[in-house]
Amino acid sequence: MKKKILACLLILFPIFSLGIAKADTVKSKYIIASDSSFAPFVFQNSSNEYTGIDMDLIKAIAKDQGFEIEITNPGFDAAISAVQAGQADGIIAGMSVTDARKATFDFSDSYYTANTILGVKESSTIASYEDLKDKTVGVKNGTASQTFLTENQSKYGYKIKTFADGASMYDSLNTGAIDAVMDDEPVLKYSISQGQKLKTPIAGTPIGETAFAVKKGSNPELIQMFNKGLANLKANGEFQKILDKYLASGETTASTSTVDETTIWGLLQNNYKQLLSGLGITLALALISFAIAIVIGIIFGMFSVSPYKSLRVISEIFVDVIRGIPLMILAAFIFWGIPNFIESITGQQSPINDFVAGTIALSLNAAAYIAEIVRGGIQAVPVGQMEASRSLGISYGKTMRKIILPQATKLMLPNFVNQFVIALKDTTIVSAIGLVELFQTGKIIIARNYQSFKMYAILAIFYLVIITLLTRLAKRLEKRIR
Ligand code: GLN
Repeated sequence: MKKKILACLLILFPIFSLGIAKADTVKSKYIIASDSSFAPFVFQNSSNEYTGIDMDLIKAIAKDQGFEIEITNPGFDAAISAVQAGQADGIIAGMSVTDARKATFDFSDSYYTANTILGVKESSTIASYEDLKDKTVGVKNGTASQTFLTENQSKYGYKIKTFADGASMYDSLNTGAIDAVMDDEPVLKYSISQGQKLKTPIAGTPIGETAFAVKKGSNPELIQMFNKGLANLKANGEFQKILDKYLASGETTASTSTVDETTIWGLLQNNYKQLLSGLGITLALALISFAIAIVIGIIFGMFSVSPYKSLRVISEIFVDVIRGIPLMILAAFIFWGIPNFIESITGQQSPINDFVAGTIALSLNAAAYIAEIVRGGIQAVPVGQMEASRSLGISYGKTMRKIILPQATKLMLPNFVNQFVIALKDTTIVSAIGLVELFQTGKIIIARNYQSFKMYAILAIFYLVIITLLTRLAKRLEKRIR
């Protein structure tokens, strides 16, 4: 027994030590994750590029220190998860330095100080925290504001509604779905300066300094370079210029759109490129994952009608497990969970990006349903046919191929078409891991111009047209096969 434990330790030791002794060599490129809408720190301008204090700052520091960066904007909560899972090297997103976060993040020097503050509609009568009793307060998931609200909930008796991004939160406030929001003071004040009809009746509460962060213990050189770069930019006045650009004059902002985005036509004109690229990702996701799902699904479907019990059991387990896990959780597990686990034991960053993770999740999900379609199709062919054929001395494989499958396929076809439509719609679910497909593209645009009614209508029509066209095509194929 003792020997076994010793052997185990000997095997595990190199694996764990690999995880601890991370090389602090400079990488050829650092992936920096950020929020999707958090003006004036990070937001999209009217030409659909991400700008803001944080974007300008990290770019200027990378230039000053001579390192390469690639920026992704999955949203605050997703950016935090990405850094923890090793999908990204650093996060800059108006992030507050809190004691709790210090346990899992290493922070740079501070570049800003922010409070959290309550925002309500201009017409609201809420004037103190006490007035929030039984009201609903919106907050972004994973933020310091959320911690503040949770800590004070029992004292003031409000309900908390959590949002994945700022756009949907402010939208809900505007439509009256929630009574107030809790967000960083500069962000709320900025949106008011941009014409949002909001007010901040109560003074803010400090939530800490704002800084850049990396996962605790990894990429220490990145923090060093950030600090050095920040000091240089402060010394040469460039840092102040960046702050002034977004804070002093409300000019260079989100709303300086060249095209009027209050009409459907204007929205399309200004965003068609972005929408088409989102549509491309959606189609690629749906088509690739469905192709893979058909292969896996047919294999497990054949297993499920196999004369061998072990194959039937394997297929049953696969279908039950995958069908029993919500697609969103499956995607999050593949994109954040597994890489986090692998990184914690090997110290290696995951090579899986959001597209690959989304494709895997969608493929597995659809495969489970396709396996059931295949099983149903085969079982719908009367058993007598298999028995008759076998009694004539024809092998199982041949009977399947020549007699059962041709009939079963015809029965399965409509279900396949159906499953494809579902797969295409399911692509919207994997936007949760920050994948910028069509739905996420729409949300990002709304984050900039608050045109949720028109933008969601545009998205609905996009999906409707695509799905109608594809089903027509599939029906035609189906006829031909028949
Ligand atoms: N400063 C807040 C925090 O760190 C909010 C950050 C954000 O929403 N991007 O929690």
